[in-house]
Amino acid sequence: MSESTVSYWHKTARVPHFPRLDKNLICDVLVIGGGITGVTTAYCLAQKGEKPVLIEAGHLCDGTTGNTTGKITVQHGIIYSNILKKHGRSFAKSYLDSQSEALDFVRRQVRDLRIDCQLTESPSYIYAENDEERKTIVEEFQTAKDLGVDAFFVESPVFPPGAVGMAGFQNQLSFHAVRYVSALAEAAVKMGARIYCDTKAVKLIDGEVSTVLCENDVTIEARHVVMATQYPLYDGPNLFFTRLYAKRAYGVAVEAQRDWPEGNFINAGQLTRSIRTHVEDGKKILIVVGEGHPTGRGEENEQAHFDNLVTFANQLAGVKTVLARWSAQDYETPDQIPYIGRIGDRQNIYVGTGYGKWGLSSGTLAGIMLSDLVATGSCPYEALYSRRRADYSTSLGKTIAEVALPIVELVKSKIEATESAAGIRQGEGRVIRFKGQRAGIYRDFDDTVTILDISCTHMSTTLNFNDAEKTWDCPAHGGRFSVDGKLLEGPPKNPLKVLFRGKYEDIAVRLE
Ligand SMILES: Cc1cc2nc3c(=O)[nH]c(=O)nc-3n(C[C@H](O)[C@H](O)[C@H](O)COP(=O)(O)OP(=O)(O)OC[C@H]3O[C@@H](n4cnc5c(N)ncnc54)[C@H](O)[C@@H]3O)c2cc1C
Repeated sequence: MSESTVSYWHKTARVPHFPRLDKNLICDVLVIGGGITGVTTAYCLAQKGEKPVLIEAGHLCDGTTGNTTGKITVQHGIIYSNILKKHGRSFAKSYLDSQSEALDFVRRQVRDLRIDCQLTESPSYIYAENDEERKTIVEEFQTAKDLGVDAFFVESPVFPPGAVGMAGFQNQLSFHAVRYVSALAEAAVKMGARIYCDTKAVKLIDGEVSTVLCENDVTIEARHVVMATQYPLYDGPNLFFTRLYAKRAYGVAVEAQRDWPEGNFINAGQLTRSIRTHVEDGKKILIVVGEGHPTGRGEENEQAHFDNLVTFANQLAGVKTVLARWSAQDYETPDQIPYIGRIGDRQNIYVGTGYGKWGLSSGTLAGIMLSDLVATGSCPYEALYSRRRADYSTSLGKTIAEVALPIVELVKSKIEATESAAGIRQGEGRVIRFKGQRAGIYRDFDDTVTILDISCTHMSTTLNFNDAEKTWDCPAHGGRFSVDGKLLEGPPKNPLKVLFRGKYEDIAVRLE
């Protein structure tokens, strides 16, 4: 995350500090990842009397959980009508019931632990901007109502501007996710969980007792391993690289000039606009998130995504001050349903991922389900969220297209033309030819130039420069690297090779 893109949530929260693991460990349950999925799992396990160990590569909420809109709702865009068509009524109903349980869980923990995370109850709206979208929303509204959602329809909404129909789901939530997860982590530790930060897992060797190797040569042996890392560290027989699609999105928090109606809003259109209100010290803050695109395939100038959101916020309520801007990524599955459960034939390795930007509720649900699976061997909703469900055959057309896209990218990125590095500006990254090979160059603000081999260490796709975050992003499976080649997130396991690092003046002549 670059300094200029720190989320509003990170700017306004104190994340508890936990030490680095510096010696080998044997434990019953290891949870990898300190976002909402990992922390909820550890918390639920501790509530059941287990003594889980959680390791996190950076700090808690460093991943997507620290960079969300902060809605926790069962209104997940257009989803119930899609699940109904693909999987039938019982799956659609289970999806609603399970997500409702996640909301109730959050309500209970906030009440019982007295968590100060501004949990707010209001309707969640999905709105249409044209007749086609309106039809889709009416269908979604009718399906949701039939499944038991307390829903209503607004024929002529006054907000957001341009809305031509809107379905509202009553009693949905929004909160400060970083404060919530931090409090849950502290409560888990009080009940006997151990949390280690700055401890990155690099390899999982499966077995009756699995062995996890960490970056600093520390080894953890565990009977159960929960992967709460978004893209799983260990694939087993799942071929997750053909089943999970990384998508980035952008967020801004603004102080507005005019008032606006409260509630959570999201549009039904392709270019997402997600809106909510957050109240901090009695002051209303407008949060707008959207501009989603597959990772590594955004606008050439990624700053444009932020500008578009600020323009949109200006239309909503007039922008007085931009308080924060950020971006993050999440993974989608072919049929919009996450994978939560056992990873494969191994009974003791588990995963929670593929939340499609609804992981504050689905990650909470994963924590509940995975802790049950570990502690008792079974849990409700296993079939719905299983990686064994028929997600290919039931959404065939879409799946083939989506699976093919990353494969096309693997080829396409290798045949695109390269540019010269002459006149590269500070803060700019480009793909060039260096010593006869394709490479990525970045000129830092202190004039340091770093040239990297930008073949992704996952499957050799050529990376694209992300101008907003100053990162190298993989258009195929969402791997991301810093401008000095360090692995930031996604499926790759190794950093990028540095081909040159030095001062601009030392290499400028060679770049002409
Ligand atoms: C812009 C945006 C807005 C969103 N808004 C909402 C919203 O309003 N409501 C909603 O429900 N959902 C929302 N989502 C989705 C939701 O935020 C995510 O699905 C959810 O936070 C995922 O939580 P997680 O714990 O699974 O993953 P993360 O929060 O990403 O946590 C994974 C953690 O694992 C760590 N890790 C990774 N690899 C390793 C390793 N090898 N060793 C150790 N640690 C490792 C990472 O550092 C990270 O901290 C949004 C997503 C985006 C992108």
